[in-house]
Amino acid sequence: MTSTTPLEFAPDLLVRFTQPDPRTDDADTTIWNERITSTDYRTALATIGDHPQETLGLYLHIPFCPGRCLYCGCNTTVTHNTTRIDRYLDALEQEIEQVASVIAGERDVLQLHVAGGTPNYLNDHQLTRLVEIIERRFRILPETATAIECDPRRSSAGQLELLHALGFRQITFGVQDLEARVQRAIGRIQSIDLVRDVYWMARESGFDSVGFDLIYGLPEQTAESFEATLAAVVDMAPDRVACFGYARAPQQRAHQHAIDIHCLPDARQRSAMFKRAVTAFTQCGYTWIGLDTFALDTDELAIAQDEGRLYRNCIGYTAANPRHTIGFGAGAVGEINGHCLQNETHIERWQQRIAAGELPVVRGHHLSKAEQRRRHALSHMICNLELSRSQAQGCLDQEYQRLASYAADGLVEVEPDRLRITPTGRFFLRELWSEHDAYFAWDRARWHLSRSN
Ligand code: SF4
Repeated sequence: MTSTTPLEFAPDLLVRFTQPDPRTDDADTTIWNERITSTDYRTALATIGDHPQETLGLYLHIPFCPGRCLYCGCNTTVTHNTTRIDRYLDALEQEIEQVASVIAGERDVLQLHVAGGTPNYLNDHQLTRLVEIIERRFRILPETATAIECDPRRSSAGQLELLHALGFRQITFGVQDLEARVQRAIGRIQSIDLVRDVYWMARESGFDSVGFDLIYGLPEQTAESFEATLAAVVDMAPDRVACFGYARAPQQRAHQHAIDIHCLPDARQRSAMFKRAVTAFTQCGYTWIGLDTFALDTDELAIAQDEGRLYRNCIGYTAANPRHTIGFGAGAVGEINGHCLQNETHIERWQQRIAAGELPVVRGHHLSKAEQRRRHALSHMICNLELSRSQAQGCLDQEYQRLASYAADGLVEVEPDRLRITPTGRFFLRELWSEHDAYFAWDRARWHLSRSN
C-alpha cells in the first residue's frame, strides 16, 4: 500500500507548476461573500433538522495562545487572562445551544475536531467543560473520530490522561521543525527531548492515533536540515504526519513581517524539502495521503485511500465522511448542504452576535448543484488520485481535457474512462487542483484557521 516515491522530474515542470515564490507577499483570494446572514445560516441548519439520520462533523475553534509564533497563519489571540477564556466558553456554549435548537434532537457525530489556537492552553476545568458542552447536545459515538490539536510545550502527562479520559482518541502535536536554528528564526523553541517525551506520554495515555504537523519552507531551513527533522520524526513513528508549506501572508498576519525574507528557502528549495519528506515517509511504511499528509499503512486513512473511499472536508481528510460539518467558535468554518459558512473571526464581535441571539456567520457561499458536483469530483481526485469521465461530465469537461493533456508531461495516465494521477503528477497535485478549483481558496483558508498548534 505504500505510495511510490516520485521519480526525478524535469526542472521545467517546477517552473511551470510551482506556486509563486513564497518569499513574496501572498494576497489571499476567496470566493466568499459577505452577504450571507444569520437567517441564511438558520435556513441551512433547518434542512438538517428534516433529516435526523444524517450524520455530523463538528469543528470547534479555540483561538487563544500564550505567545505568537512568527510563522503563524492561524486565527488566534495571545492572552494570559483565564477569565477571557471562560467567557469564550460561555459564548461557545450559547452558540452550540442555538445551533442545536434549530437542528433539533440529539444527533450522531462521526467526526469531532478541536483546533485553534492552542486548545490545550485551556486548563483542566476548561477542557472538561468544553467536552461537557458538546456532549450535552450531540451524541459522540464509540466510533466517532475525536481529535484535538495540541502544543507539545503546553502538554503534561496529567493533561494527556485527562484528554484521553474525556474521550479524545486522536491527538496531533505541532512540531514544525526540530532544528534549533530554525526554531529560533520562527520564535518557537521546543527541544527534540521535549517532543519525544510528550510523544511517549501520549502513547502511554492510550491515544489510538498520535500525529505530528511539520512545516517546510521556514526561515533557515535547508533540505539537509529538514532531513534531520524527518529522520527524528520517522524514528518516533507517529501514526500520521501532515507536512505543510509555510504560507506567507504578512498583509493578513503582520507578525510574519518579523521573519527575514532573505532567510526563506526559494521555491526550488521548498520543492526539494517536500520531496525529501515524501521519500523519508514512503520508504518507512507510510502512505502518502492526498496533498500533504502521510499515514502509517495500517492507519484508517491509508486503508480508505487504498480502497478509493477517502474524503476531504473542511476539517481535513476523513474515512468517516459525515454528511454535514458545523463550525463553532470565532472564525470556525462549516459546510451544510452546499452552504460553506464562516463565523465572525473577531472574538468580541462573535460574542456580541451570539449574545444578541444571532448565529454569528460572517461570510460564505452557496454552491449550486453543478458546483457541488465539481467540488466532489475534484476532492475525489485529490483523495483517490483519479478523475473518472463520468464524474467530470457536465461539470469539468474542459478541465478533464486540459488535465488529460498533462499526460505528455507524465503527470497523468489517460485510460478510456478515467485519468489517473501518476507519482510525478502526485507531486504537483496541489497545483493541478488549484488551477481548476475555485474553491481551493476555501480549503486554504480553513487550514490557515487551525493548523500548526
Ligand atoms: S502557530 Fe499555533 S501555537 Fe503558534 S501562535 Fe499560531 S496557533 Fe498559537
